[in-house]
Amino acid sequence: MSIKKVITHILLLLMIFSIVVPVSTGYAASSDDILGNLASSTISSGSNSGGSGLFDKLFSFLFDQVLGPVLNIFGNKNTSTSAPVKITTLPPTSGSTGSVLNEGVLKGKVIVVDPGHGGSNPGAVGNDTRESDNNLAVGLKLRDKLVQSGAKVILTRDSDRNVASKGSSLGQELQARVDIAEQNNADLFISVHTNSNPDSNIDGAMTFYHGGDSAALATAVQKALIKQTGAVDKGTSTATFYVLRNTTMPRVLIEMGFISNPAEAARLNDNSYRNNIAHGIYSGIVEYFNNH
Ligand SMILES: [Zn+2]
Repeated sequence: MSIKKVITHILLLLMIFSIVVPVSTGYAASSDDILGNLASSTISSGSNSGGSGLFDKLFSFLFDQVLGPVLNIFGNKNTSTSAPVKITTLPPTSGSTGSVLNEGVLKGKVIVVDPGHGGSNPGAVGNDTRESDNNLAVGLKLRDKLVQSGAKVILTRDSDRNVASKGSSLGQELQARVDIAEQNNADLFISVHTNSNPDSNIDGAMTFYHGGDSAALATAVQKALIKQTGAVDKGTSTATFYVLRNTTMPRVLIEMGFISNPAEAARLNDNSYRNNIAHGIYSGIVEYFNNH
């Protein structure tokens, strides 16, 4: 074994420990991605070493393309000035590029879209606008986008009305929405709401979830929603809202923005902004199904 290889072995071990050890405690998947990318870069780089097997190629690649140039151990041999950059190029995080999403994943999926409130219950009211109107407008746009991609969409309401029969309690109203999702064996339940706060300075969008696979759905939807709208990112959070607690499929409740903030209320009332919100939620759903 050459001195070059011995040094490369040692440096490689140090590198692997530095990558794997700190990351593995919380983000095993991320370290998988890093190592997976390392290995695939190695294979596709067409190493010119005489060694055979993955590890020989890996060692040679690391030495020739990375460690050699960076540490300049053996002078200028085999170096190229741009080489060290290659290994730092990690794959893009999922969902960062909407254009590569495979929208075919929605074909045949049953998705229940639930525009919150309606009828006798307008939800939050502020700046001369009503939550129930925002929720319905976005829900209808979301329905159209999902249907265009082949999903079967069921709206809990498609007009300004209650879902449960007249005179029902709030609990019955919410249960009626849950029933629609459960009885149709929905693959997803997407509830759309508008937030409110006594402090009119507060604005931004957030996505709530409850249990299991819903965390990944919430993350995908929130990320795409923020990317599409530019709204303040208030993140994702677990919550025990009735419709989340009592449905069993992956499910989220989206608070699109604050009706109590004058500027955000105006945006929520705007047709093109509503379209952006719907498109963001739609992209998040596609992203979720691309990975599940
Ligand atoms: Zn609401």
